[in-house]
Amino acid sequence: MAAVRGLCTSSLASTSYTSSSRACRLSSSSTRSNAHFSAKAVRHSSRKCRLVLLAVLVDPQVESKIASLKQETSDSEVVDSLLLKLADSTNFQTEVQGAVKVKSSSKVTKKEPVLGLTDTNLKSNLEHRLWVAFGATTVAGMVAKALSACQSGEDVMQVGAGLLASWVLSDLGTGFYHWGVDNYGDASTPFFGSQIDAFQGHHQRPWTITKREFANNIHAIARPAGMFLTPFLLLPSHPFGDSFLGFFLGMVIMSQQTHALSHFKKSQLPPFIIALQDNGVLLGRKMHGTHHKPPYDVNYCIVSGLWNPLLDRLQIFPRMERFIYNKWNVAPRSWSETSHEWMQADTYFEDGTEFDPYQSS
Ligand SMILES: [Zn+2]
Ligand SMILES: [Zn+2]
Repeated sequence: MAAVRGLCTSSLASTSYTSSSRACRLSSSSTRSNAHFSAKAVRHSSRKCRLVLLAVLVDPQVESKIASLKQETSDSEVVDSLLLKLADSTNFQTEVQGAVKVKSSSKVTKKEPVLGLTDTNLKSNLEHRLWVAFGATTVAGMVAKALSACQSGEDVMQVGAGLLASWVLSDLGTGFYHWGVDNYGDASTPFFGSQIDAFQGHHQRPWTITKREFANNIHAIARPAGMFLTPFLLLPSHPFGDSFLGFFLGMVIMSQQTHALSHFKKSQLPPFIIALQDNGVLLGRKMHGTHHKPPYDVNYCIVSGLWNPLLDRLQIFPRMERFIYNKWNVAPRSWSETSHEWMQADTYFEDGTEFDPYQSS
């Protein structure tokens, strides 16, 4: 801006560029920022002068062009003349338009990291519903197979034990999976790329998950889970084995829904869900909210959260991260906060408020 200010005939403290013979008139009270080209001044300046101003504002290189113009002469009248001549030139106007375009597109590019989940359709479509129906059918088939194999009370107990074991271990399984996609790879990673991208989008805009429709939210897991279970439907029945596998994959499929429920405010949830969350059957709101706080390296489990305290106390994930780093020199994302692409870009809750770990919400 110095060159433009240099063109002004008044002091730097209160810039005003006045040329009675020209339509160019700028004024402002500040010389410390772009603000010294006040809106009023721009509005009152001629089209040519606005063009010059705009060019300087969007492209610092234009400023050096004007500075070199000024070096040609110290006579302000001549400078005015040269300035307007410059503004008149077709090339210059094309350059200004180009600079404006570059500036505009750079603004759009800046917003890109906020996309991801936000850019995805939150509604369920037919394909989502069909994959969920497929996954649910295979889960129901496994449970029916387990029950059909029951010939005694002990067998029924085994089905119950399979249900309990699946609830316990599915939480642990989601913890390891969530840790993996949060810390390693990116959207281009084979097979897991879309999941990594989805988790990244979720960390940027946490409340978006509460806007996803049911099938939209869980179809991505229902699909591979159903494919995995299908061959087991053809194998010989076993009360515990079939019950465990069926319920385990069923809970893994539902983990994105238990995760979504933990993102609502207490006032938005029905009483029975709050009771299940508060009693540790489903993932707690407060426990998961802590996962979304820097350094984003705790409470990865998202079915019930049962394993989170133990895993974090034993430093299981940090130990695994150090092992991976020492072995393959690959650092997890949670080690580099400053370049963290998963930083929250929006408020935690939809209403514009943040999660407070010291208050239950
Ligand atoms: Zn996460
Ligand atoms: Zn979350």
